[in-house]
Amino acid sequence: MVEIQALSDTSIFGQIAEHQHEQVVYCHDHETGLRAIIGIHNTVLGPALGGTRMWHYASDAEALNDVLRLSRGMTYKAAISGLNLGGGKAVIIGDAKTQKNEALLRKFGRFVQNLNGKYITAEDVNMTTKDMEYIRMETKHVAGLPETMGGSGDPSPVTAFGTYMGMKAAAKKAFGSDSLAGKRVAVQGVGHVGTYLMEYLVKEGAEIVLTDYYTERAEEAAARFGAKAVGLEEIYDQDVDIYSPCALGATLNDDTLSRLKCQVVAGCANNQLKDEHVHGPALVQKGIIYAPDFLINAGGLINVYSEVVGSSRQGALTQTEKIYDYTLQVLNKAEKEGLHPQQAATQIAKERIAAIGKVKSTY
Ligand code: NAD
Repeated sequence: MVEIQALSDTSIFGQIAEHQHEQVVYCHDHETGLRAIIGIHNTVLGPALGGTRMWHYASDAEALNDVLRLSRGMTYKAAISGLNLGGGKAVIIGDAKTQKNEALLRKFGRFVQNLNGKYITAEDVNMTTKDMEYIRMETKHVAGLPETMGGSGDPSPVTAFGTYMGMKAAAKKAFGSDSLAGKRVAVQGVGHVGTYLMEYLVKEGAEIVLTDYYTERAEEAAARFGAKAVGLEEIYDQDVDIYSPCALGATLNDDTLSRLKCQVVAGCANNQLKDEHVHGPALVQKGIIYAPDFLINAGGLINVYSEVVGSSRQGALTQTEKIYDYTLQVLNKAEKEGLHPQQAATQIAKERIAAIGKVKSTY
């Protein structure tokens, strides 16, 4: 889940400068054992919003690298989706099974509160709704709460809808039609988002091959969706039209690219390209249309944003549907300007931040 890339300057400021972050906050508490890092990448468009994950990082440097990369991704995701949000993320260093407790989470909440709304947190890997309730006891700057607490609820169905829209747009580009009827799709990871996504795919008449780390889960999903379950490694060798990574990051890498037989890659996982400068162009060379991850998995963030600005779930779905148009726009730009799709998407995101930054330059 945690992908580490080599950085040219491994000093703390070297890394912060490389990713161009505004602020990085180290949180420490002796009593609870809390060690956390909050990364605020860019707040030109609005408060930095992004989840908190708890992970047993092998080193502090690994934790810093993770939070820096994840928070930067949030900036671009919000910007390209037209949201008035900046990018942020937090990591709590430790084993979620043995070290997570009410006091630690509430202490973390106080650090979030100290930032006065510059950073808004939410759920991420190894955090539960109950954990968010503890954090909420110490700060109001929490989003993605359950509907029973006045929040926007589970973002997964909205993420799946956006991924489906992005997949259809990429199919239109690759096959000349956005219909997925009869298309063979390899779904890697049948968790929350993957399952909702497969509902759309089956409804439209796609054929599914799937895999999951948990064999039972894969078999259950295969029975439910009339799909074929294959082994974890076998998923890359399938003779399919579309590969949909819905589990881990970095699955587009030197080992897998030579094996993929698909014409489209479109999934919900974050950071799918192991090295975007290498594997982004490599996909273009192989003639594979890649729907940028941070663009097509933005439905969940759009849903959380609806909570921040007080709009409805329906409003979030309407906005998420636009991922179809945005994906086509990105793919057309990439083709016209000789860029790879991730590069084109990042450029659009950066241009919006620069333009709105100028709007805000006067009182
Ligand atoms: P999840 O934990 O519910 O599902 C992930 C599934 O992948 C699990 O069933 C897990 O067993 C499986 N898995 C783990 N390792 C695997 C491997 N090596 N091969 C195959 N399967 C494997 O998570 P989710 O909420 O469905 O999110 C899926 C991905 O989408 C994650 O990368 C997440 O960061 C990203 N994402 C999710 C949302 C959201 O709204 N939930 C939003 C944006 C991005």
